Amino acid sequence: RGLTPSVIVIGAGMSGISAAKTLSDAGIKDILILEATDRIGGRIKKTNFSGVYVEMGANWVEGVNGKEVNPIWTMANEIGLKSYRSDFRNIASNVYKQSGGLYNESEAQKIVDSAEEFFQFSANVSASLLSNGAEDVSILTAERLRNKVPSTPIEKALEYFRYDSQQGEPPRLTSLRNTVPLPTFADFGDDIYFVADSRGYESVVHYIAKQFLTTNKAGEINDPRLLLNKAVTEIHYSGTGVTVKTQDGSVYKAEYVMVSASIGVLQTDLISFVPPLPDWKLLAIYQFDLSVYTKIFIKFPYKFWPTGNGTEFFVYAHERRGYYTNWQQLENEYPGANCLLVTVTDDESRRIEQQPDSKTKAEIMEVLRNMFGDDIPEATDILVPRWWSDKFFRGCFSNWPVGLSRHRFNQIKSPVDRVYFTGEHTSEKYFGYVHGAYLAGIDSANSLINCVKKKMCNSKDDRLVQ
Ligand code: FAD
Repeated sequence: RGLTPSVIVIGAGMSGISAAKTLSDAGIKDILILEATDRIGGRIKKTNFSGVYVEMGANWVEGVNGKEVNPIWTMANEIGLKSYRSDFRNIASNVYKQSGGLYNESEAQKIVDSAEEFFQFSANVSASLLSNGAEDVSILTAERLRNKVPSTPIEKALEYFRYDSQQGEPPRLTSLRNTVPLPTFADFGDDIYFVADSRGYESVVHYIAKQFLTTNKAGEINDPRLLLNKAVTEIHYSGTGVTVKTQDGSVYKAEYVMVSASIGVLQTDLISFVPPLPDWKLLAIYQFDLSVYTKIFIKFPYKFWPTGNGTEFFVYAHERRGYYTNWQQLENEYPGANCLLVTVTDDESRRIEQQPDSKTKAEIMEVLRNMFGDDIPEATDILVPRWWSDKFFRGCFSNWPVGLSRHRFNQIKSPVDRVYFTGEHTSEKYFGYVHGAYLAGIDSANSLINCVKKKMCNSKDDRLVQ
């Protein structure tokens, strides 16, 4: 222990690893990373599904080919991560009716065009709210302003495809001012690339980790400063230091702690803070949303869906909004694997997490029979990730709900004494994304570094401004 302080980083997802690397690069090497699960990567996680590696969590590098370069894209290219540009242009020719058959393409295209026109309108409303210092509104409010509230199954399905699959929550809940347009696409470009690589998207996290943690001859991380299977249960803090306790009874002391657990975890009592976090902090944490987004992979003995150019994404327009709406065929990414990916969100996700996979599979088979007819084979395997039920996550990515002010948002990341916060949910521009987590880690580490080195510590100011 010398001139630099000791820091405990809680969580080894993208933001915790990025924060720890930033501290290490600044000469703060007396760090200890405590991770609850048996791996690094957090919400970036691959799994073997019937012979291919698929992503249970983050799948796309979002925001590519724009005026600035997404730092995740740079790293993905450095390690040669295999990814495929997603092309949504043909979606109007791939919208299925509830009871089968495709909608007329020109009818669907009109709805897609009108949604694009509405998007431009809502972006203008959003910009004017900001410049007038006016109150925020939801995306639904903007739809009402333009008389564009979806009512038919196809309108609802295409609206869901556009908004819920990005935010994980419906337009009724989502802040217009903070999501239209999304800085991710405005800054880094509109393209998104689907990662399908046997090393997994998580190899980006490993790539960062190996730049500051030691590895063995096989290239595996063996640094004693990274401890896995260490679920933090208590953080005692004061103006002079911190004591962190883990579920297995271990106790660790340090001068500072950086908490990177998801905002869903912070909304539960998994980690108790002693003394309790102040009210201004809790209020800010409780007001943000962690949405739930479930990527269900299903495998078949053979393909019965269209493949080839312009068929990758398709939509099922059921009267119940969000009922197995978003589909993707993965022939490009996993040739010959005969896999489909269907995504559900929010209440549907919570419902599906609580039922057996056999029930979900039966529902999906019925939907597929509606779309493609009765003469289709039974699925041979299904994968249903359960991020919401997992006490170390409690959801998937954060969404800015209408009603949360920027001031409150900033309080989510404000330090409390020697407790610092990071995570995708602390990135004002890129919350919800992998690059948001990465950049947030750098930001939060830099504020700790400023506090230590320049005595520029902002926690007091934030406490005064309630
Ligand atoms: P996390 O990855 O949650 O890391 C926090 C770590 O803290 C975890 O490893 C956790 O185990 C650990 N932890 C929690 N509690 C404790 C405790 N008590 N003690 C010790 N450790 C603890 N982003 C994109 O850019 N593109 C996408 O396509 C995309 N799709 C997504 C799809 C899904 C299904 C999900 C779940 C997420 C998706 N995201 C996507 C979002 C992206 O994955 C996250 O924004 C990002 O990975 C979050 O990183 P983080 O470090 O903030 O949090």
